[in-house]
Amino acid sequence: MLDLTPKEVLERTALRINPCKTCQPVGAMYAALGVRRCMPHSHGSQGCCSYHRTVLSRHFKEPAIASSSSFTEGASVFGGRSNINTAAKNVFDMYDPDVIAIHTTCLSETIGDDLGSYIADMEIPEGKTVLYCNTPSYVGSHINGFFNMMIGFINYLTKTTGVKNGKTAVFPGWVNPGDIRELKRIAGLMKLDSIFFPDQSGVLDAPMTGKYEMYPDGGTTREEIAALGDCEAVIALGEIIGIEPSEHLKKKHKVPYTLLPMPVGVAHTDAFVLALQKATKTEVPRELEEERGRLVDLMLDSHQYTSGKKAAIFGDPDVVIGLTSFALETGLIPKYVITGTPKEEVARRVRALLDSYGVTDCTVKANADLFELHQWIKNEPVDLLIGSSYGKQIAKAEDIPFVRAGFPVLDRYGGTLLPVVGYAGGIRLAEKITNALMDRIDRDSSDEDFEVVM
Ligand code: SF4
Repeated sequence: MLDLTPKEVLERTALRINPCKTCQPVGAMYAALGVRRCMPHSHGSQGCCSYHRTVLSRHFKEPAIASSSSFTEGASVFGGRSNINTAAKNVFDMYDPDVIAIHTTCLSETIGDDLGSYIADMEIPEGKTVLYCNTPSYVGSHINGFFNMMIGFINYLTKTTGVKNGKTAVFPGWVNPGDIRELKRIAGLMKLDSIFFPDQSGVLDAPMTGKYEMYPDGGTTREEIAALGDCEAVIALGEIIGIEPSEHLKKKHKVPYTLLPMPVGVAHTDAFVLALQKATKTEVPRELEEERGRLVDLMLDSHQYTSGKKAAIFGDPDVVIGLTSFALETGLIPKYVITGTPKEEVARRVRALLDSYGVTDCTVKANADLFELHQWIKNEPVDLLIGSSYGKQIAKAEDIPFVRAGFPVLDRYGGTLLPVVGYAGGIRLAEKITNALMDRIDRDSSDEDFEVVM
């Protein structure tokens, strides 16, 4: 029996209902898919691997490749050394990746499989790489899995020649391929010589060519990851997801880093552009200034519909920090902000944003779930819900306009191809938010009102 105090039972600290997160290996798999010719490998049972691939495929509408150690009873009792050796041989023979990136699962973590020693003893074909990271899913969330896999790549692949290569590494964090394309475009406009790591653009948004490519042309190459050790600096986007890999690279190769919030909205995109300006000593081009001006113009024009409206925001840590900042810029009043990832730092950063706008009546919670959010909304409703597809039932039950953003968005198409970051992403978000509120006005207007609105 669990040893819980009555207070813990009352506060439901040991049970999640409709979680606002998923398990660590999903993040590890997504990070590994951002490396060219990499096969993510799930060291556990087939069911875990199938689930993780499925959630990624449903969000990106693309095949998410991964192999599995396919644990059965024997491996669960005696360990998975034989399974991973056989799996690595089969994967190299059949699918010929350059890298197999192994992540653990609850099962292999619980039995204590030592993947470091398994890999050290493994017969790895010449010119190929096998690496791993630990992703126990009873700790943290998919966000931990994502940065743990980044650390796995840094551990195994980064090197230093002692001579700086003049490049700046950009860690884009957990964003969609459409966001990475936008971040690269902004970095290009600012003339940054960069290495984006990881980079799922070109992998999980690969174009239809009529021919299936197991390894599309996108992704950070092994050579680029090796060169991270010689980079001048790192710009890490996402304060929660970016800190640990940045610290790790700094400890290993003394590469300094700048940690920035995910560039959602005006202020956070400004911070990114200014960091690029500092790195490149380049003037901000007119193209970017005009984009910023168009975003601000749209926010001013639509302010009459967004101002003072109460919003509930939920999702991954850096996404909710970015969305809260943007919501405040548009005049929305965040009423509830939650993430399922157990990082109190998220709540601290969201509260700092709210304080800077003088918003005091907002409930902010990390390690929360959507059942809890639903209860709060039932007690005190909001005008708008912003978050992943898992908020759909709340929106439906409480009849609230709903803007899908973050991960996963399972029930809509095209979202992963378009950005929410940068000024262009801000324009897209402002359009989605304003139009959701205006659709509601239209629906609730009488015929006579409608004629006036038209
Ligand atoms: S057993 Fe663990 S790793 Fe596997 S799907 Fe469940 S939570 Fe994820």
